[in-house]
Amino acid sequence: MIRIILLGAPGAGKGSQASLIKDKYGIPHISTGDVFRQNIADKTELGKYAQSFMDIGELVPDDVVIDIVAERLQKEDCKGGFILDGFPRTISQAQSLDKITAIDYVINIQVDFSLVIDRLAGRRACNCGEVYHTSLYQGVFCKRCGGLLYQREDDKELTVKNRLAVYEKQTTPLIEYYKSQNILFNVDGNSNVEKTFEEVQRLISGN
Ligand code: AMP
Repeated sequence: MIRIILLGAPGAGKGSQASLIKDKYGIPHISTGDVFRQNIADKTELGKYAQSFMDIGELVPDDVVIDIVAERLQKEDCKGGFILDGFPRTISQAQSLDKITAIDYVINIQVDFSLVIDRLAGRRACNCGEVYHTSLYQGVFCKRCGGLLYQREDDKELTVKNRLAVYEKQTTPLIEYYKSQNILFNVDGNSNVEKTFEEVQRLISGN
């Protein structure tokens, strides 16, 4: 059983690590941001509601996010574990999660804020969840599913600044929260995706 939370600032590489962990360990990648983006693409009521917060870099209210995650974790494919990417983001979300499930690893991807702005500005996303950086891939279509890549609205500079401020204020307290539960593990997210993944694998395999 591998139940993982990925913590880290926007642009730390949570999505990239989640995708690698999913492929290697065969556990589902649950990204609350992806759930909202899919709802926006599908023009649902939830999508419309979430977008009003996302566009300005604010968090979607806790009760909405918690319900989504609680429901998702009940699905059959989560029986052997899961990777939570972008959840929890507040102490209140973490407390609610504690009531639903135990967690084995909280992996905190540490990254310098100076790097994050560039990473997000060059980030291109696909609706299937794949993410690319313009410095590494200049194509316009997703290599996995062929979908059209796009720049996330909230990756534009002004919104990024607010997302970082929101992260500092609302999400960094989770580091202490999980440290006190003895399940917090730091990895270095400043270098490349592969190096960070080596650290993650060492951690999960316990050496
Ligand atoms: P992400 O893709 O994780 O960067 O999330 C994009 C946006 O979706 C965030 O800036 C929030 O507006 C919203 N969001 C995603 N996950 C959460 C969460 N756990 N709590 C509140 N808002 C969230």
